[in-house]
Amino acid sequence: MGKTKHAGPMKLDKKWDPSLWAGKVPLGLGKVKPKHIRDTLKVALENRDNLGYAYRILTQGVCDGCALGVSGLQDQTLAGPHLCTTRLNVLRLNTMPAIDPKWLDDVEELRKLDSTELRKLGRIPYPLSRKPGEKRFTRISWDDALNRIAAKIKAIDPKQLAFYLTARGITNEVYYTAAKVARFLGTNNIDNASRICHSPSKTALKRSLGIGASSCNYQDWIGTDVLVFWGSVAANNQPVSTKYMYAAKKAGTKIIMINPYREPAMENYWIPSIPESALFGTQIVDDVFQVNIGGDIAFMNGVMKHWFEMEKEQPGSAIDHAFIANHTNGFAELKEHVEQLNWNDIVKSAGLSKERILEFAKLLANSRSGVFIWSMGLTQHRFATDNISQVANLALLQGFIGRKHCGVMPIRGHSGVQGSGEMGADPFVLPGGDFEPEHKKRIEAIWGFHIPDWQGDTVGQMLENVLLPDDHERKVRLFYTSGGNFLETMPDPAFIQRVLENVELRVHQDIIFNTSTLVDAKEEVIVLPAMTRYEQPGGGTSTSTERMVYFSPEIKGPRIEEARAEWDIYVELAKRVDPERAHLIDFQTAQQIRDEIAVANPNYDGIQHLKNRGDVFQWGGAWLCEGGVCPTPDGRGNLLPIDLPEFRRTEGHFYVTSRRGKQFNSMVYSETDPFNGADRYDVIMNETDGKKLNIRNGESIVVYNQYGTFQGRACFGDTQTGNIAVYWPEGNMLLPKGVYETHAKIPEYNTTVIVEKAESFHAQKDRRYLEKRVEELELEAN
Ligand code: SF4
Repeated sequence: MGKTKHAGPMKLDKKWDPSLWAGKVPLGLGKVKPKHIRDTLKVALENRDNLGYAYRILTQGVCDGCALGVSGLQDQTLAGPHLCTTRLNVLRLNTMPAIDPKWLDDVEELRKLDSTELRKLGRIPYPLSRKPGEKRFTRISWDDALNRIAAKIKAIDPKQLAFYLTARGITNEVYYTAAKVARFLGTNNIDNASRICHSPSKTALKRSLGIGASSCNYQDWIGTDVLVFWGSVAANNQPVSTKYMYAAKKAGTKIIMINPYREPAMENYWIPSIPESALFGTQIVDDVFQVNIGGDIAFMNGVMKHWFEMEKEQPGSAIDHAFIANHTNGFAELKEHVEQLNWNDIVKSAGLSKERILEFAKLLANSRSGVFIWSMGLTQHRFATDNISQVANLALLQGFIGRKHCGVMPIRGHSGVQGSGEMGADPFVLPGGDFEPEHKKRIEAIWGFHIPDWQGDTVGQMLENVLLPDDHERKVRLFYTSGGNFLETMPDPAFIQRVLENVELRVHQDIIFNTSTLVDAKEEVIVLPAMTRYEQPGGGTSTSTERMVYFSPEIKGPRIEEARAEWDIYVELAKRVDPERAHLIDFQTAQQIRDEIAVANPNYDGIQHLKNRGDVFQWGGAWLCEGGVCPTPDGRGNLLPIDLPEFRRTEGHFYVTSRRGKQFNSMVYSETDPFNGADRYDVIMNETDGKKLNIRNGESIVVYNQYGTFQGRACFGDTQTGNIAVYWPEGNMLLPKGVYETHAKIPEYNTTVIVEKAESFHAQKDRRYLEKRVEELELEAN
């Protein structure tokens, strides 16, 4: 942990520099680009019934959008306003009134709506119940709801109870309480939304560097020699990050993107809060390396191979020997492993020519500082932990760790996810550490009760466990989910539907309905109305990607009468299940929870002092591993040899990945992607591939594999040949179920597919059908 403290917001250099402009035509006229002013007006219109409250949320609250982190309209990186359309779009979730009760009378009518339409109906007003065969939701009292859930918990084995928390504005206080309550009730089956985004980042950084979060700050982007975005479209998912990128460019930083698709948002961006950029746009990236989907490990092995070649020719020309000698283990093994790799295999897997790999290797070798940032492009693979350890390998070999302008940063997409694991809402960890006996004993002493010894399951495994035989001790019978929409986030939606239908009791603690809430359960679905973070008495905290813990106060405004603070619901439930031990879990205020977090997770010592709007502190100091000293048992980072992943892509098949458009996680805000004009059912593919298949731009195509069939339209874009992208979650049926990354158990979100023109796909199907019919006729004739 670092001693150096974050210096607070810097002044942004706003001097105009035409060399950074995206073009000379003002406002990007004629270009496909987001329309920030129109979108802002639309949001104002949407919130017109509650404008005062909306304004107070924006100016006093901590953003419940992405995890870049901002309190009110000020962040810790740059002075000046911080606001984006993602935050504005999410705003309505906080200001809208309750759903009209007439909708609750007819579940079939609700089922005709998609999640966007359901969201717009309004907030969940009071506890509800629906049993199989019932056509409507029935209003029930809180007492009734909690007693029914408590009775079920008492009737089942704790291993059959599972909790999941998404990241929708959920605060550290809620994650912590849920983590504690789950263990109080005897289960370690508790998981959170980072399982499907950044869990491999935490696992890999732990084994490579002994840390579980970003080692650096956004300010380190500004003035670093090279800033690398790896499988990350920060401009779309964390929009205000473009302001930091602008500042970095001004300071002479080279920005590189590594991605199969030349993401338009990362090429040029019109930053609304910077007049020069709002008018003429800013060219963000200096170079793009278009790897194959899943080709990153090979690419990074190629980079290291070339560094060792450079070193042979001129020692000291490529890597930081002093850093390696003083702060790392495993150099000889890594070098031996990389040197025996064959360039042909590297190039084939990476999808980039050797020359391009060498270019990137030289760029890093000649840089004195560098920051590596990544997102789902690296994490949503079955070899994701290895992907991230490779990034750590590059950083360690260059000594890009633990000092100014250097670091590794898993950039988070949702305001809650960084804190969820740190609070213990995860089957592998407890607050402040994992399950190693000493730490477990420490937490048991703080909590005053025994924590189960058995390994809890991850969300994917919990869902699969619903379908275990009736007599299985781990068959999940009660699934308690705070937010989340598994139907639209997990691979294989048809399978997930079957799982949800087979849970005996499903509890949805949420602010709105989504498609998963409407699925029948075997015995009952109970829906509990939750408060937003701005409504919770005593406020709440959330942790940003750069480890800033922000306090968000309770904000005066309208309330959903029966909605309750989520931590309060967990506490009340636990007390009903086990009234005799109720005193062990009896949090009365959010402040009490913060006081306990500060003890349970020593990194969070300081959270107890956050009380007012704008209060913030950064855990771990400005740089984790400061001075190259890692919090591993011997204080050194671990260089790890990583094998090329095995890929089986049959001739004629494509790699497919998923991408985000104008959406916030699975909440879609526009059917059209503002950066490339694509529609949600467009399949982004390279024109060369299209021509080979006789497919024209805009033509109907079918993308299929053994898992599912996706009908969409070809949309030519600059993707690496042989690689296509579909929108998420629309393309989820193409993904396999039950394929998890070995260490962090993230589901596999990339696979291979066949692409065909719709007419030939269907014609072929017809032919097969006819052939079958003829055979049948022949049989009958005989
Ligand atoms: S960039 Fe992220 S943290 Fe900042 S306002 Fe937008 S959604 Fe909120």
